[in-house]
Amino acid sequence: IPSWLEDLKNKSTSDGEETEDTSLEHKSLCQKVSLFRGDITLLEIDAIVNAANSSLLGGGGVDGCIHRAAGACLFAECRTLIGCATGQAKITCGYNLPAKYVIHTVGPIARGHIDETTRDDLASCYKSSLKLAKENNVRSIAFPCISTGIYGFPNEPAADIALSIVKEWLKKNPDEMDRIIFCVFLEVDFKIYKKKMNELFVID
Ligand code: ADP
Repeated sequence: IPSWLEDLKNKSTSDGEETEDTSLEHKSLCQKVSLFRGDITLLEIDAIVNAANSSLLGGGGVDGCIHRAAGACLFAECRTLIGCATGQAKITCGYNLPAKYVIHTVGPIARGHIDETTRDDLASCYKSSLKLAKENNVRSIAFPCISTGIYGFPNEPAADIALSIVKEWLKKNPDEMDRIIFCVFLEVDFKIYKKKMNELFVID
């Protein structure tokens, strides 16, 4: 159990005034997150996040799926952006996608090995995407498992980073977002996210 959850439990038993606020805040936060297994390009939502590469000119994996579904206009807009640095994010229209926007973020290339830099860069992808979402009045957003495919970031620590950054951000920005979907594609990620979300976003 992560330390913040212990903190939450301790608070709700030690301070009457804070009990209600904390649990209400926690409850509304939990109600905003969900887990979906499937193709992110199908989601009718304000924004989907693309695990892009630094050229922003398309690639394999989720990036390829998004470009195929969005059509040639997405590629044309991406060309005007002149790339994106690792850990940063840029926004485009969604074109033929049911999503209004695509937020392109560039995850770290881990190749199975993670250190402080790759962890920070992955955290930065989630933070930058959420910041950009807020600036563009995005009220609902879906994240794929950034960097865990071709870029080789191990699945479990990647999920820890994704979930903790989103949780932290929602706590700081309770009025800025209605819905955050973790869109997993593989069975392995579905299992990892289900388990961790049951721990982190449980309402009791
Ligand atoms: P990266 O280069 O950042 O590792 P990948 O696209 O290779 O990006 O993989 C990121 C994640 O996206 C992986 O979990 C992969 O299974 C998943 N993925 C692939 N296609 C889709 C899709 N259509 N919708 C959602 N997730 C997808």
